Amino acid sequence: MSDFPVTDRTRVRRLPDRGKYDADTVHRIIDAVFVSHVGFTIDERPFVIPVLHARDGDRLLLHGASSSRLLRHIAAGNPLCVCITAIDGLVLAKTAFNQSMNYRSVVIFGQGALIDDAEEKLRALAILTNRLVPGQWDHVRHPNPQELKATSIVAVPITEASAKVRSGPPKDDAEDQGFPAWAGVVPITQLLGAPVPAAYTDVAATVPDHIRAVVASHAAPPPGA
Ligand SMILES: Cc1cc2nc3c(=O)[nH]c(=O)nc-3n(C[C@H](O)[C@H](O)[C@H](O)COP(=O)(O)OP(=O)(O)OC[C@H]3O[C@@H](n4cnc5c(N)ncnc54)[C@H](O)[C@@H]3O)c2cc1C
Repeated sequence: MSDFPVTDRTRVRRLPDRGKYDADTVHRIIDAVFVSHVGFTIDERPFVIPVLHARDGDRLLLHGASSSRLLRHIAAGNPLCVCITAIDGLVLAKTAFNQSMNYRSVVIFGQGALIDDAEEKLRALAILTNRLVPGQWDHVRHPNPQELKATSIVAVPITEASAKVRSGPPKDDAEDQGFPAWAGVVPITQLLGAPVPAAYTDVAATVPDHIRAVVASHAAPPPGA
């Protein structure tokens, strides 16, 4: 399935069977990961900067201080390459050559545009806030005019993108499978710990349900489970 055109830039060359170009796979990976690494070039020097992202349909929302170099550079419409990676396991093989990782990753090429319409900007901020914990926007003070001015939000259309996915066990050649080393996968899971209240939060106040819900859905299993 290929929802995104496979361009010369997005074609996965090495192990091409791991390449995916359908919007569903790309969107799921974006939604599973909090951090984008945004690559751009200034004066022929490459920079890669990590930021929080949120997806709004077929576009990626990024935000930051209006004064930040990254946001100003994106808002000016310069070309970007955004990389988003989830790591799922250490793949331990019997041979050094076949050590690997299980992963899901996305590469997006595009250009961002500033969201300056006030209503759209607030909506985008709500999406970014709810990216941390769904429902958070409804529990917090909304930005005042000064805070809104100090924040830039950009949208990057997700139209030229590739995903690459590795899953499953290590792949040693038949002649190495008798070698006396352990082979298998150590899963990597993203967990949320018990909420720690800020010093200025009433310690007697209970953690709100929407935060409890997201913690419960990513909590560590009990020991021995
Ligand atoms: C967690 C993790 C660890 C990795 N470790 C290594 C490593 O140690 N060494 C190594 O060589 N490779 C590693 N890879 C794979 C690496 O990301 C590239 O896929 C690999 O270098 C082969 O690229 P290529 O030559 O096929 O394509 P390139 O010519 O480099 O890329 C062509 C196009 O393919 C697409 N593409 C390539 N890789 C990805 C990707 N991972 N996700 C989405 N789109 C992609 C992009 O659109 C890119 O522009 C790792 C990947 C992940 C996610």
